[in-house]
Amino acid sequence: MDKVRQHSSVRWRIVLIYFLLVFIAMTIVSVFLLDQMKTYQINAVRDNLTKTIHESNLLTSLGRYEELASNKAEIQANLDENWSRSFAEELSVVCRDFSVCASTNPNIVGRDARDVFDPGILLNTFVTGEGSESDSVISENIPVKNMSYPILSEQTGGVSGVVYVRADLSSISSFLSQSKLIFVQAMFLALIITVLLGFVIARSITVPINDVTRTVQRMSQGDFSQRVQVKSDDEIGQLAQMFNLLREKLDFTLSEISNEKNKLETILTYMADGLIAIDLEGLVLHANPAARDILGIDEEEDLTNVTYDSLLGHISPRMKLSYIKVNCEEEGGEDTFDYGATTFAVRYDRFKDDDGKDVGIIIIMQDITERQKLEDMQTDFVANVSHELKTPLTTIKSYTETLLDGALDDRATAVRFLNIVDTEADRMNRLVKDLLQLSRLDHRQEKWNIKESNILPLLNTVATKVDMTVRQKQLQLNLLYDNDKQIRVLIDRDRFEQVLMNVLSNAIKYTDRGGRIDVDAFVKNSLAHIVVRDNGIGIAEGEVPRIFERFYRVDKARSRAMGGTGLGLAITKQIVEEHNGTIEAESREGEGTQITIKLPLATRRGKRNIE
Ligand code: ADP
Repeated sequence: MDKVRQHSSVRWRIVLIYFLLVFIAMTIVSVFLLDQMKTYQINAVRDNLTKTIHESNLLTSLGRYEELASNKAEIQANLDENWSRSFAEELSVVCRDFSVCASTNPNIVGRDARDVFDPGILLNTFVTGEGSESDSVISENIPVKNMSYPILSEQTGGVSGVVYVRADLSSISSFLSQSKLIFVQAMFLALIITVLLGFVIARSITVPINDVTRTVQRMSQGDFSQRVQVKSDDEIGQLAQMFNLLREKLDFTLSEISNEKNKLETILTYMADGLIAIDLEGLVLHANPAARDILGIDEEEDLTNVTYDSLLGHISPRMKLSYIKVNCEEEGGEDTFDYGATTFAVRYDRFKDDDGKDVGIIIIMQDITERQKLEDMQTDFVANVSHELKTPLTTIKSYTETLLDGALDDRATAVRFLNIVDTEADRMNRLVKDLLQLSRLDHRQEKWNIKESNILPLLNTVATKVDMTVRQKQLQLNLLYDNDKQIRVLIDRDRFEQVLMNVLSNAIKYTDRGGRIDVDAFVKNSLAHIVVRDNGIGIAEGEVPRIFERFYRVDKARSRAMGGTGLGLAITKQIVEEHNGTIEAESREGEGTQITIKLPLATRRGKRNIE
């Protein structure tokens, strides 16, 4: 609103300037012209009169009289005859006694000339003997030109009288008034035209300026789509052009900045590492979602005025602001710390503004729990493998040494020892086979032969294979599923037989003589379920999730005695998962264990070809 008023005031100011300029110019011209005209007209009257008087020889003829006063009648007769009719102005002859001796105006004849005429010029002519003139207004406001000419006596050479002419200037005055009126009218018209033209011109200036202003207004509200129309090539057109250029540049720069910002925001939002930016006072400037997640801060929580020390400084003395500030003075620092169950690697460094001045510190937190776990697992694995290989090797070595030391001579002992060596070699063989299979699974080098199969005959086959052991242990193996039905799944038969064998042999291994094992298979929630349940020794609650880990054995001695490697369930889980299935264990110590395998049914589309 203010801007509009401002522009309208500019418009009116331009109009006013035009108006005043034209007004002043016209007034000066009018005054000057009128004055010139007046001077010209009056000069013309004077010159005309003087010329007429001189050419008429009136002064010479009057100069011949010795005494004008004594020849009044003759002079009057002369005036009546030669001037009254042909001369438009009033012409009088004033004698030395200042009486009007004769005149074309009979009303003033005989009167004192000083009362009737301008006494100043009369006296001046009488005294100096030179013609004089003045302007005056006589009765009824008639402007007149007074001219006095000296009558020089032929005898004495002195001034014997004065010829006094009064020329009526009314016509000149009315001409001048008329002219004045015309000037005023012309000025009025000119001013109206000036105002109109001024308005149009002012508009042509203010409209583009208004345009620019409106566009700037919209730009200030974030709309950069506006362009100012370039209508001319003058300064305003150039201004509009420059403005459009500026707008484009600004738009481009802003969109670049916004792109960069979006990019940065996306990176910050989706980066897995936590990032916290703080100023040098330790106030939090930014914490990305990962950082909030790590520190358990709500996504919506406002972190303005929250200090770094209250967020991270309390975790360890080496994470305090004072410490990291000093530590990253020359180059960034790094550290690791535990926060709850998570281990983090922390890196921090200062960040600078455009002038290279330090403005804050960026702290990056990387969750290395998994990496650490993996590293620990790898170390454990190597230790386990070494240990598992070393145990049978030690046994083999000690028995062979004993044999070589003489036990070979005692045949019964030798056979017993060799059997032990054989068993340990078998264990090593199994161990190496399992390790190789795990390695193939890990490196996805296992060849898969996936086919649609009914799972029930496979269960029967496995049950048949363990039949002997079941009998030996006097276990009761119940196959609960309906053999007439079909549960079709996509499996590699050999690998899956290995899975079922592992689970079933575990149930047999960890169930005491006389125990009971149930095997069931059914479809639930569109998934094939295979359940192997035993009432064996069971597993302590906290250890159940760990039985799928490599080399994890609840009871090492028992597992070992049973010929287990501790890798069976790890391999089983990996094979099941390769079939898009899951394997779960439920167990109660002393009551029994249930292993449930779930597989997608073959009716599902998108048959997987693992090979
Ligand atoms: P192992 O070769 O020792 O049997 P597994 O990987 O097959 O190794 O099993 C890991 C551990 O899980 C076993 O050592 C055992 O302690 C436990 N376990 C597996 N199945 C059962 C079960 N049915 N009942 C009790 N414990 C079991």
